[in-house]
Amino acid sequence: MSFEITLQIFSGGFLGKPVSFETVERKLNAVLPRLPVSRVFMGWAPGKELYEKTAELLAKQNIEFYLWLPVFSETGSLRPQSALVDFYGRKLKGNTGHAEEDFSFCCPNVPANIENVLDIFEREFSSIPFTGIFLDKIRYPSFAQGFTSVFSCFCPHCLALYKKENFDIEELKNILCASTDLKIKNYQINGIYEFEDLRISNFFSLKAAFIFRSLEYVSRYFKEKGYSVGFDVFAPFLSFFIGQDLPALSTLCDFMKPMMYRATQAPAGLPFETEMLLAETVGADRNKRKSFYTMLGIDGKKIPFDLAFSSKELEKLVQVSACPVFAGIEINRKKDLAEVYPDYIEETIRAYARARVQGLALSWDLLDAPEDNILKTAEEIKKIHNQD
Ligand SMILES: [Zn+2]
Repeated sequence: MSFEITLQIFSGGFLGKPVSFETVERKLNAVLPRLPVSRVFMGWAPGKELYEKTAELLAKQNIEFYLWLPVFSETGSLRPQSALVDFYGRKLKGNTGHAEEDFSFCCPNVPANIENVLDIFEREFSSIPFTGIFLDKIRYPSFAQGFTSVFSCFCPHCLALYKKENFDIEELKNILCASTDLKIKNYQINGIYEFEDLRISNFFSLKAAFIFRSLEYVSRYFKEKGYSVGFDVFAPFLSFFIGQDLPALSTLCDFMKPMMYRATQAPAGLPFETEMLLAETVGADRNKRKSFYTMLGIDGKKIPFDLAFSSKELEKLVQVSACPVFAGIEINRKKDLAEVYPDYIEETIRAYARARVQGLALSWDLLDAPEDNILKTAEEIKKIHNQD
């Protein structure tokens, strides 16, 4: 089977009680006979019983089981971490208020922060027979957490790194304090933007190199233990601002899942992140907003987010990716956050399949996927498999 289907299940945050095995079992038993599923991601509420029982259920059906694990965010709720620092020297706190995910990011360059997440894994999850680890929050914050969150980190550890790279952060600070308009000249493809001021792109390139280096370490850690490793990443055109160089990252993992959420009004959602990018950089300036939309070739006001643009982003990523690309699409329905209905699922799956992705990750929470969405998803996937 060449077109692979993955299910994603949110079992709760680090501090919450995990959902019950009975809830997961009921949903899987209803869905698995209808969908040819290759793997399941589940995370990240601690509680071994849920994962042990789910592993057993999936093993019987030859389905791979991945732990969904956040890396540079969320883990602070379990243990103190060194936070990100903005260019004013302030510690950044999570603030989006989305239930059970606090989106408080830690500095990805401080080795103790990386060891912290590996310790959480060892303590809570290493005894469970997972096939692989699906790494999420492998990034810096986005504009959803405000302008200065994107222009981080300025902790002592990072300051030393910039110095070593001969990057003048005082100059950057002056540019950012003078104006939040990033003066984007051009969007090429695969997340590469050109700016009027080269120092801005140099800064983002540095951040991407830092994330790459930290993930190289984390990925090797899990691969040496025999796990497959998958990456949860932003859509290419948003990845540049959060320190993700997708073609480079594709060399570190067994597959990546760009979150191509056209309907989601929450972090990682395309309409939400695009709006936050504009709100934080050019504000209400209508002309500047219009030229951004024109640059991308989209109708910016349309929700769900532009379908042709979204699938072109995927198509271009597939062409350069060193690993398989699974398009992340929402099949859950959450009031005001993800208004996902069968017609949306139909057009999105059809367009993403034409972009030649190697499969779909049905996200971000199967437990909130209503019956009509599951029916439509199964119907569309059947058509794709019949064509293969
Ligand atoms: Zn730092």
